Amino acid sequence: SIRHLEKVRSDFISNASHELKTPVTALQGFTEALLDGAIEDHDTAVEFVKIMQKESNRLGSLIKDILDLAKIEQDQVQQTSELLEADELVEDVFQHLSRRAQDKHIDLVKDDGSQPDISFRGDRGRVLQVLTNLIHNAIIYNNPYGFVKVSISEQENMIQFKISDNGIGIPQEDLPRIFERFYRVSKDRSTASGGTGLGLAISKEIVEAHNGRIWANSVEGQGTSIFITLPCEVLE
Ligand code: ADP
Repeated sequence: SIRHLEKVRSDFISNASHELKTPVTALQGFTEALLDGAIEDHDTAVEFVKIMQKESNRLGSLIKDILDLAKIEQDQVQQTSELLEADELVEDVFQHLSRRAQDKHIDLVKDDGSQPDISFRGDRGRVLQVLTNLIHNAIIYNNPYGFVKVSISEQENMIQFKISDNGIGIPQEDLPRIFERFYRVSKDRSTASGGTGLGLAISKEIVEAHNGRIWANSVEGQGTSIFITLPCEVLE
């Protein structure tokens, strides 16, 4: 309903303001403290500047994600639609995230049972963005020596990607809300990883612009599976 949409919009603006104000306030506070004399003490100065670096990075990520969300919302229907190969996209993302996975000794694998050679139409950059975000989450919300497994299948002209991990999982009560803008399961586990709480909201927006669906299953302490279905064309 319109009422509901209005509430979503006003919640978004108040959440965005709050999220943006936090790093700005920190930056102003530490700048002032430095000018007030903290700059004279080398160790304190280094400590403050490091905090300022972290806060400015955070501000940068927030601005980037908020603008990206607005842009996807505006474009609504994807006009740049190309023929994409599911396997190739997953390989691309695995390669892109391999260093991050290696640092945590996490295996990135494709399910043996995956159907090969599935093609579909979509915006390559945007679909890569979704897969990157989901696989990245599966790495950061995982334990060292864990795994991330991607399965690809096709059914009734829909392609399905399943991204599973055996990581920390999501409590049942949080599960229905993880696709909401700025929703984080617990601030400490997310901000430590530099998350904005917008990744899944952006992914959902992109998937829906492709007329697809996205949902999650999870068991706390055991792992998470994120599912995406997208319509695919049959090749003649
Ligand atoms: P963030 O930027 O905080 O990672 P996301 O929108 O990507 O935001 O995810 C929302 C929340 O869902 C995260 O804060 C995290 O707690 C939880 N989450 C997402 N993916 C996973 C996963 N694979 N395993 C466990 N928790 C996850």
